[in-house]
Amino acid sequence: MSIQLFKPKFRNEEIMEHIQECLDKGWTGLGYKTVEIENEWKKYTGLPNAHFVNSNTSGIHLACKILKDANKWNDGDEVITTPLTFVSSNHGIIYSNLHPVFADVDEYLCLDPESVERNITKKTRAVLFVGIGGNMGQFSKILHLCKKYNLKLILDAAHMSGTWFTQIVEGGSSLEHAGQGADVSVFSFQAVKNLPTADSGMICFKNEDYDQLARKLSWLGITKDTYQRSNDKGNYKWEYDLVDVGYKYHGNSIMASMALVGLKYLEEDNEMRRNICKMYDEGFSGSGVETIPLSDETTISSRHLYQIRVRNRNQTMEFLNNNDIFPGVHYRDNTNYKIYSYAKGNCPYSHKISEEVISLPLHLFLSKDNIQNVIEKVIKSTNI
Ligand SMILES: *Cc1c(COP(=O)(O)O)cnc(C)c1O
Repeated sequence: MSIQLFKPKFRNEEIMEHIQECLDKGWTGLGYKTVEIENEWKKYTGLPNAHFVNSNTSGIHLACKILKDANKWNDGDEVITTPLTFVSSNHGIIYSNLHPVFADVDEYLCLDPESVERNITKKTRAVLFVGIGGNMGQFSKILHLCKKYNLKLILDAAHMSGTWFTQIVEGGSSLEHAGQGADVSVFSFQAVKNLPTADSGMICFKNEDYDQLARKLSWLGITKDTYQRSNDKGNYKWEYDLVDVGYKYHGNSIMASMALVGLKYLEEDNEMRRNICKMYDEGFSGSGVETIPLSDETTISSRHLYQIRVRNRNQTMEFLNNNDIFPGVHYRDNTNYKIYSYAKGNCPYSHKISEEVISLPLHLFLSKDNIQNVIEKVIKSTNI
């Protein structure tokens, strides 16, 4: 049996119960279960607002668009971002007619505060931070920079469902979910993420007015949603106004059904991921295999990824594939892509690291033997 990078675990029966309720009620769209998952997500994370959308990609677009319009940014204003991410983080900036400026990453593969500061110009309006694999990196320093230079902070939290950090507050400290402190954070519940559905996500604004705007823009700009309208008494259900051209970005009750069950098991599942990572850590200790560390700020990581660095990646990958082990690469340096090639050479460390990283198999179906096998083959392959 081959060992794959990801494999989602679904609790089929429980999901089916929720979906059955939707079908019985005759309600599969926006509203009903989407309201439930928003409330549950707020309860779980402690974030003040949450809107369920059809993907993280849509959410990042809404985040950029709403911050831009509300703060009267101009076309071409700059958002500092990372070249080490899935392409959709930066598409959201482009969709909004803003300009991605690439800064370098640190040893945690997250934006390096020093590089961010060096890239700030008069046109910089925001920083987009990605917590790779559930790593907080140096988030608090980025937050500090944003305050100092009056920039908005957008968190691509696609990997961070269940990542917690310790915030020092007066008279003690508190454990906070990733997203706290950012102006907006966007989670992904795509099929291989820690909380897998098929496609969906959550956009969480700090500001309640922006949350209301997100709700309106995710449903074509319509000022009253169908669920609300269907519960209206009287004859004015069809009467709504349009003041903005919105999008079709909201989530639906079938995806929400999957997410409600996934959320119930998220902590348990992440604990298992952490145990797998601990086995990897122990297996590689003293072997010469270089692993990507978690930053001190990462009190509890969701452990979406377990990444190592190798000098001879092609050979290593080939050897692993020949042994029925199929790891992944997160990510290719985005400035390698033609559309972002204007920034080529801006981020030398990201570029180097993107040629060396490998994400090892990490999912809930891995047995101890699987993990031992991966460890053994990785060590062997790096010594070829
Ligand atoms: C998966 C992912 C996304 C996109 O999420 P979707 O829900 O598939 O749109 C964005 N950013 C990162 C870092 C991701 O891993």
